[in-house]
This record gives sequence, structure tokens and C-alpha cells, in this order.
Amino acid sequence: MKTTTALAIEGGRPALDGLPPFPSWPQHSAADARALLDVLESGKWGSTHGEVVSQFETEFAAAHGARHGIALSNGTLALAAALRAAGVGVGDEVICPPYTFIATASAALFVGAVPTFADVEPDTHLIDPASVERAITDRTKAIIAVHLAGSVANLDALNKLAETHGLTLIEDAAQAAGAAWRGRPVGAIGHLGTFSFQSSKNITAGEGGIVVTDDDRLASAVYSLVNVGRVRGGGWYEHASVGYNLRLTEFQGALLRGQLTRLPEQQQVRDDNAKLLTERLAGVEGVVVDREPAEMTAHGRHLFMVRVPELGAAGLRDAAAKALGAEGVIGASSGYVPLHRNEALIAESTALADRLGQPYPKADCPVSDLVCTDTIWFPQTVLLGTPEQTNAVADAITKVVSAGDALKSAN
Ligand SMILES: *Cc1c(COP(=O)(O)O)cnc(C)c1O
Repeated sequence: MKTTTALAIEGGRPALDGLPPFPSWPQHSAADARALLDVLESGKWGSTHGEVVSQFETEFAAAHGARHGIALSNGTLALAAALRAAGVGVGDEVICPPYTFIATASAALFVGAVPTFADVEPDTHLIDPASVERAITDRTKAIIAVHLAGSVANLDALNKLAETHGLTLIEDAAQAAGAAWRGRPVGAIGHLGTFSFQSSKNITAGEGGIVVTDDDRLASAVYSLVNVGRVRGGGWYEHASVGYNLRLTEFQGALLRGQLTRLPEQQQVRDDNAKLLTERLAGVEGVVVDREPAEMTAHGRHLFMVRVPELGAAGLRDAAAKALGAEGVIGASSGYVPLHRNEALIAESTALADRLGQPYPKADCPVSDLVCTDTIWFPQTVLLGTPEQTNAVADAITKVVSAGDALKSAN
């Protein structure tokens, strides 16, 4: 099939021409400004003195069906704290997917553990439980399941594996605030769940994160790691364990409370647009939209992920992402590079394993290698537009995937 209209990169009219720009991110309200001023004027800027972070922890945990929420400085250290709270340490192996943000794997190294890799599913980009099972060794202590894009990894199979092999299951839900599996919000379905409030995420305070769990002992351990080893309700200089200082400020807490109240409404807009986009792309040759697991009852909608296998095989995926940007689909991205091939991670993991005299398992992740060549994703802000914009995004994708040789010349 050959396109009838010229691509914007060739000087054609952009598919989103004449439409307003997508909503900017992050968003704030007058109430947020007031809440920030309240913190400012209260003089209680730190969470050890104020109540705002603690209120947010309660509200976020409730929204995610978890008994406990412990806020902390970012999603990267949330993972490290979760691992350490679960007793994962020097020489232990932590299984994670290679198709994710680097923090998922680097968190293991921060606690002296070795990240190892299980492959992802070709039709969801999510960690594949069968590959996880193959990656388990007698040194494995934890699995980190990433709810990539806001979709939900197979928690039934992963919980079962964790139980059978005595492993801790951590949900990296940095992209999945508000997502649910069989009607239950993600986060505390595994032993612990972590979220990020970095600038791009669906709830943000610029930076920030939270660990949620239903387990009282794990919650206490995370609290102590966040608060220099203090015990909740204990004395200021009562350090019962060795912990970091990972606390948020009250300013961040104030922003996060406001963000959380807006999440359901924004989630609805993203969800409606994602469904429209999926429908529009269903019959389009050359585009495969990620399958949504049947047990997933709410999608977090952080990214909209598609594969373009033919363009990928022809080495034209990056050109397609660039062409989509020119059509006005801001943020169209080629996505992740495979972590099991990241030289920094391999070097540090190998050095650690060598030092401990243990083997460093070789990753077998052909699907991750493949999807890294043919995936394009769109950020959540694209899903925050109007149905008219969403239709134009579908037009842009259709136009670009059917452009064929025109992309080659623009590559
Ligand atoms: C953003 C992100 C993180 C890290 O969170 P930060 O707050 O940026 O440290 C971890 N895992 C995934 C999947 C992420 O998207």
C-alpha cells in the first residue's frame, strides 16, 4: 500500500496541522498553589515535622488497596529500598525484564545484588513468566515485574512462581498508578510495589516515589530505610537498623495530594483516547497495538505502545518515529534499548559476580532484542488530547506506516 498524501518530513501537510497542541505536563491548579503556600507559611517544610506527606501516604495507599504506603525520594530508590527491606543483599540474584527503564536493574546493584534477565512477551512488552521460571537459579531471591506502559504483568503466574520458589515479588509500578489486575489495584498484589513521581509520570511532584505493601514487617523495614534506621513512633536518636534518608519534603507531599485527586479524571480521558486509537489502528497493516491482558481491569495508560514489524525489519523504525514527530505526534519515541546489552550493567554485574566467585547468568532474551528494533511508543500526554486529536494521531500513524520507500529517503 502506498500513501496518497505526502509525509510532513517530505514537505507534506502534517496530519495534526491546525489542531491545538497536546496538553502540557505537568498540570497544576490554584488549589495546588494554595497548598504549596500553606506548607511554606507553616514553617514545616520537612515531613518529620509536618503532616502532608503522611496524609498523601495514607491517601495513595488507600487508592491502591494497600495497607501501607511509605513515600520516598524517587522510584529508583523505592526499588532499592523494597529489595533491601525484603532482605535481598550481596550476591543474591534479582530477575527483571530487559525492556524497561534502567533503574529496574540498577536498583539490584545498589543493594549488592546481581540483576539477571527474563525475556518479555512479544505482544505485550511485559515480562514473560515462562522465561522468569527458566532464569531462576539457587541464588535468585526476587523478581521485579514491571507494569510497563501502565499495563499489568501476569501477576497470577508471577505470584505462583514466587510462592513455589520462595522469592519476593516486587511490582515496579512506576508507570502504572491506577492500574488494576482482576479488580485489585496494582502495587500490593506482590509482596511490595513501587511507584515513581518523576516529571514524566502520571502523578508527579518533579521527583518522588512510594513503596506500598500489605505486609507490616516489610512496611516497618521500608520506613526505617527511609528514615535513617528509625522506628515508627520511636525516639529521634533511636536507630534500630542502618537506613538512608530518603524522605520527601512537605512541598512534594502537597503537590502529590493534588495530583492524586486529578488522576481518575485524567485516567478516564487517556483510557477513552487509547481505546479509540486501538480501534482506529485495528485494521491498519503494519501496526500491531499491544494486547491488553484479559485479567487487567484498569490500564495505567502511561504509554501507548505499538510494534511496526515490517518497518523494524527494514531498519526504518527510527525514521518512522521521526516522521510521526513531524506529523505533530509529539513525543513519538523509539523506546528502550535492551538492558541485557547495556555495557555498564554487564560490567558491574560481572565484576560483582567475579568478586563473589559466582557465575553471571547469560541473558537469553531474543524477544526483547526484537521488540527493541520495532517498537514505537507515544507518551501519556498524547492520550490527554481530544478525540479529534486522537483521530489525527491514528491518521498520522496510518500515513507513516504505509509510506514505504518515502521513509527510506527521509532516513
Ligand atoms: C521512571 C521509572 C523508574 C524510576 O523512577 P525515578 O523516580 O525516575 O527514579 C523505575 N522503573 C520504571 C519502569 C520507570 O518508568
